[in-house]
Parts: sequence; C-alpha cells; structure tokens
Amino acid sequence: MSEIFDNVTSYVNKVSGIMKLSPFEKELIHTPNRVIQVSFPLEMDDNSKRVITAYRVQFNNARGPYKGGIRFHHHVNMGEVKALAFWMAIKCAVVDIPFGGGKGGVVINPKELSHGEIERISRGFMRAMHQFLGPDVDIPAPDVYTTSQVMDWMRDEYEKITKTSSPAVITGKSLKNGGSLVRDVSTALGGAMVLRELMAEKKLTMKDASVAVQGFGNAGQNMAKILDSWGCKVVAVSDSKGGIYNKAGLDIGAVIREKEKGTVTTFDAESISNEYLLELDVDVLVPAALADVITGKNASGIKAKVVLELANGPTSPEADRILSKAGVIILPDVLANAGGVTVSYFEWKQNKLGKSWSEEKITEELDKTMKSAFKSVSSMAMTHDTDFRTAAYILAIGRILEAEKSKGSEP
Ligand code: GLU
Repeated sequence: MSEIFDNVTSYVNKVSGIMKLSPFEKELIHTPNRVIQVSFPLEMDDNSKRVITAYRVQFNNARGPYKGGIRFHHHVNMGEVKALAFWMAIKCAVVDIPFGGGKGGVVINPKELSHGEIERISRGFMRAMHQFLGPDVDIPAPDVYTTSQVMDWMRDEYEKITKTSSPAVITGKSLKNGGSLVRDVSTALGGAMVLRELMAEKKLTMKDASVAVQGFGNAGQNMAKILDSWGCKVVAVSDSKGGIYNKAGLDIGAVIREKEKGTVTTFDAESISNEYLLELDVDVLVPAALADVITGKNASGIKAKVVLELANGPTSPEADRILSKAGVIILPDVLANAGGVTVSYFEWKQNKLGKSWSEEKITEELDKTMKSAFKSVSSMAMTHDTDFRTAAYILAIGRILEAEKSKGSEP
C-alpha cells in the first residue's frame, strides 16, 4: 500500500505550484533523508521463533532532531511509514517546535501477542535500531497500538546498550519513568483547542455542537471525553468492531467503561457501522483511527460541517477536493493532532533540564502553541484564499526550506 505516499506527493504538487518551488526545492521537501528497514528474531511464549520486520524513516531534520512515533500494526509498510514521517516534519514545523520528522513501524498484530511477547518486540526493536536513534538524533514516541509501557521498555533497552542515562531518547514514557503530565491526553486536547479556535473565529458555539468520533483508542476516547466536558454533544463513537449512536448524546464515561471490557459495540445504544458513522449529519466529525477512511467513494456522503483529523492521513486527496468544494471545513492532521508531539517536546525539554513541569504550566504552554499555530494557518489560508491543509503545508514547507537554506544546502 505505498499509495498513502502518493497522497503526500499529490499534496506537495499542489502546494509547490502555489509556492512556486523550484524542482530542487520540491524534491528536497518530498524525499526522505534516510529509510531504514531491520529485522530481528522473536521468541514466542510457546518457544517457537518468528522474524519481525521493522521500519524507521528519518524524513527531514533541517529544523531539529527527527521526531515521531512508532506504530505496531500488521498492515505497516514502508510507503505508509514514509508518508507518516513526512507528516511529522510538516506537523513539527506547523507548531514551530525544533524537531524534524520521522516515523517507525513494526509489522505485527499486537492483539495476537502476549504482554511478554510485546516486551521482547519493544526491546528487539531498540537493539536493531539504537544506532540510528538518540536524544539529539531521532526521538521516537507512541503511535497506533504503542503505549507508555512500550516506551519505558525501549528507553531501558537503549540505556542498557549505550550504558547511559538517556530519558530524552524517547517520549510518551510513563510518569514514574520520566514521562510528562498531560502527554497521555495531549493529542486530543490539542485537537479540541484547535476546534475551539475555529469555532470562535467562525462565531460558532461549542455548546451542544454534535460530534461523531471514529476510532476509540487513546486519541478518540480522550477527544470524546474532553468535548463532552466542554459542553459538546457526542452522539456517536466507534471502534474496529462497529459503532454506537444516540441522538441525545452518549454517556461518554459509561462508554469508556464499556470499552475497557473490549468494545463499544456492547454498549446499550443504537448500533451503527463505521461507514454510517462517517456520514452522520453532525457538526463535527472526528476521524481518530487509521489513514484513508474518507475517500473518493464516501466523501460526497459526508454531512459534517467540520472534519477534525485526529488520525494521521484520514482524508485522501480526492476526498479533500470533494469536501472543500462542498464547503466542509477540514482541520488537517498536521495541525489538529499536533498537540501530541508538542507535549512530547515539553517532555523532552523537561528530561533535558532534569525538571518536571506542573499540569497547569503544560496545559497553558500547549494552549499557547495550538492557538498560535491555528492563527498562523488561518491567516495563511486567508492570504492564499485556500483551505487549512494547503495553508498549513505552505507555512511548514516555507519554514523547512528556510532552515535548509540557513544550513547552506547546495542547489
Ligand atoms: N505519534 C504521534 C503523532 O503522530 C506523536 C509523535 C510524537 O510525540 O513524537 O503525532
């Protein structure tokens, strides 16, 4: 499925036309610096052995060390990791933190593996990858199906190999192991803050705005929780097994308790499919799972007024065109989910300084960052009379090229 990287190419083509990039600049922006593939053996609980494949793409580090999560998923492939690494470079530039972009992936199905097997994979990944990583080189973090526990194991393995104390080699760690307050909710919280800014700009109110959330992992659950507590009406949520709907609003606390037992689908509410959820007539639709869920096939059925992309790459370029034409406002992934990496930056900074910041300080700093990123993107959109995604890319690519130029990259 290297087609996901075709989505990147399509967005870059559009933006480089608007920015009048030279062929060199365009190639510089959309070529990864380094693409790494490794394999390592895994001993299963039944003593059988498997070979595990993993990737890391270090896309661009003109603005600082490579930064980005590692996902555990059986569909992970190089094309996808390349696209995700590119989006990290754009994202870090949009929120103006001093990082470049990277991403990693391990081809496994975590749902079929035991706790012990996941630990051995996390450590195996670090043994195979450590020479490419480091607190000032490339700093991984959680992503789809990777937790703070996985980050803790990886940090421990890195420190054992390098015989150092290096808390800043990875972010999204547990609190007792150098993690940061707010990091676990930061992707969703940053997204909610961006939505709040948009609603204020459009003179709309959050109170009673209807919301549907597709995907009920860390980001989706916290988004539902936060928007519910801010007075929105979360009417539908879903996970990989299906969705639930209640026009009057779901009791989010109770739905989360149900999810802890396995799936939201056993909750007492009307059952709906994931496809149907995407087409609900709501104010805000939040794709919070995997890429490419809104495509040319279903985009014309989307009735939401705002699409807030908490997942990475949920909208294909064709769908993007259809939605923009229909007047749907898209808060693009590279802005809407950048709260996660922003608090990762705060965690990295705290580790470097040997300090712990309070929840209040972190929330305040995150708020400032998201507000200022939204303002910059929104004013860029105004200047170029374009949508938020194109504006975010123009802003980020401009910043990355400036950093490249200041280093004196030869044309
Ligand atoms: N995986 C998250 C993302 O896609 C967070 C990355 C990070 O914190 O480095 O933005």
